[in-house]
Amino acid sequence: MVSMADFWEESLTEEEGYLLQPFTTNLDRSVFGLVNLPEVVKGALFSRYSRSDKSLRRILLDEFIKAPEASFAGIAGHFTNNNADQLVAIQQAEAFYDRVLIGYGDDSVAELGGAHIACEGISNIAAKVIEDSRLGLSPLEKSTRYVPFNRKVNGRYRYYRESSIMASSHSSRYEATLDYLFDTYTALIDPLLSWVISRTPKDPTTSERAYNNATKAKTLDLLRGLLPMATLTNVGLFGNGRAFEYLLVKLAATPHQEVRTLGISMQQELDQIIPSFVKRAKTERGAKAAQYLQTNCKRTELLAQKLLGQIQPVSTSTVQLVDYDPQAEVKVIAAILYPHTDLTFDQIKEYVTSLSTTERVEIINTYVGERESRFHRPGRAFEETYYTFDLLADIGAYRDLHRHRVLTQERQHYSVRHGYIVPIEIEEANLQEQMRKALDYAAETTELIGKDLPDAAEYVVPFAYRIRWRIKLNLREAYHLVELRSSRQGHPSYRIIAQEMYRQINAVHPALAANMHFVDLNDYALERLAAEQRMETKLKQHHQNQPPSA
Ligand SMILES: Cc1cc2nc3c(=O)[nH]c(=O)nc-3n(C[C@H](O)[C@H](O)[C@H](O)COP(=O)(O)OP(=O)(O)OC[C@H]3O[C@@H](n4cnc5c(N)ncnc54)[C@H](O)[C@@H]3O)c2cc1C
Repeated sequence: MVSMADFWEESLTEEEGYLLQPFTTNLDRSVFGLVNLPEVVKGALFSRYSRSDKSLRRILLDEFIKAPEASFAGIAGHFTNNNADQLVAIQQAEAFYDRVLIGYGDDSVAELGGAHIACEGISNIAAKVIEDSRLGLSPLEKSTRYVPFNRKVNGRYRYYRESSIMASSHSSRYEATLDYLFDTYTALIDPLLSWVISRTPKDPTTSERAYNNATKAKTLDLLRGLLPMATLTNVGLFGNGRAFEYLLVKLAATPHQEVRTLGISMQQELDQIIPSFVKRAKTERGAKAAQYLQTNCKRTELLAQKLLGQIQPVSTSTVQLVDYDPQAEVKVIAAILYPHTDLTFDQIKEYVTSLSTTERVEIINTYVGERESRFHRPGRAFEETYYTFDLLADIGAYRDLHRHRVLTQERQHYSVRHGYIVPIEIEEANLQEQMRKALDYAAETTELIGKDLPDAAEYVVPFAYRIRWRIKLNLREAYHLVELRSSRQGHPSYRIIAQEMYRQINAVHPALAANMHFVDLNDYALERLAAEQRMETKLKQHHQNQPPSA
């Protein structure tokens, strides 16, 4: 049998092995990892793949380690040492590797190195702008479900004091409103937790830990509507250089001062990790790209206001399927058959058109097969058709669904125009009056500040207020989204949306939706409980597998 290794060779001298050993995870196998190298170096190294017949280890040796102009000893020697040395090493690396990048690289080289960046104490306005990015960035954000947001620092709640508001006559009203929201949030935690506990008492089989976590999560879920967009959060990001560069351009183009300043801070830090990959964001070219985005957005906004400003919005249901393809079934089935024939797509479509419903269903079912869990996902043929939904739901739900990166999503402004949602449980616990008062006061403040500072006024809007946004997604992502987001541990506000999206897709394309077996259409009192119980079992197993401590 011919193996991969038959066509692979790596002949290294003993000295070469010694030189390479700190930088690769092995010296004698065809699959290996790179370690202890600056990201820019790794990117530059891979960029040579496209123009060289050499192995990566050979390129590293000949063109980097042994090339005098690379000053590699300085770079790598420092890189394994302390932080200050690493910065020197990266700076040294930059000049040489920029030449490599200019010589051999294109934009995609900047995708070959990445960075982890933490953004702490940023508002939810800023967090959502970061998370608008899709390709190449993976964010994680502090949870409103697991973390109470009422801790004070130096006697002050942690929300963003927006500079233009704080410099205006609205400053005290702004702080009074946000303090009121956070005070109400704080005051309702204990009574609501007691109500949750009384409504869903612990059964003897549930552990104390699982029950406490589930009831606390439920309480915080119900109260998150009081948190304003100014609420400070932490976002951790892993991304590649290219995605970061584009993100920096986008941050520079936003109307919010906070977000633009955040972009500058992020650039400073990325300059220390992947300088070559993000440097264009701060050049004339980057500034022009930001200007381009900003100008077009502003002009389009003015045009939209001129054209549509007099029309009153109609009230709609939360989930509206506004566009889908009547030909979807034929196209998806043709896409299923396509890779297995040598016919044209049109020929296959013509054939599929002539099939009976039973024959079509057989093809779909064969393709999807036996799905044992939601992780068994249908393939790319399901990307052949798209659905557009117009959604109107509370900002809390928006924040959760916004994170699906495969979708096309665009929101309207954060505003108080569409009213707010008070969870039914808050009413049942008889705590709605306090919540409503704080939310109503926030609406008055938003309108007041909005007259002078419309962009800044968005910071006041609490998550309970509704926002309208548009999503366009293909059938494959629809499977992922509705099954994940309807699952029991999800927040009720987006579970309802996911369930409704399923119903509406199923109504127009029953054969295509038929394999969405893991949509959960039930309603649960304590969403987190089952997940916490599973966690409990895992923890127990983990403890059992631990060696006894010394
Ligand atoms: C109950 C629940 C609680 C959550 N709590 C939190 C929380 O507290 N904090 C938090 O930050 N997040 C939380 N999340 C996760 C977060 O909201 C996810 O970003 C969201 O679920 C969308 O991401 P996704 O990866 O599932 O799917 P999508 O972004 O829709 O992508 C679809 C699929 O494509 C693939 N994919 C997409 N992009 C990439 C990529 N860059 N790299 C590799 N694969 C990719 C993955 O297979 C992914 O599942 C929670 C999710 C759930 C369901």
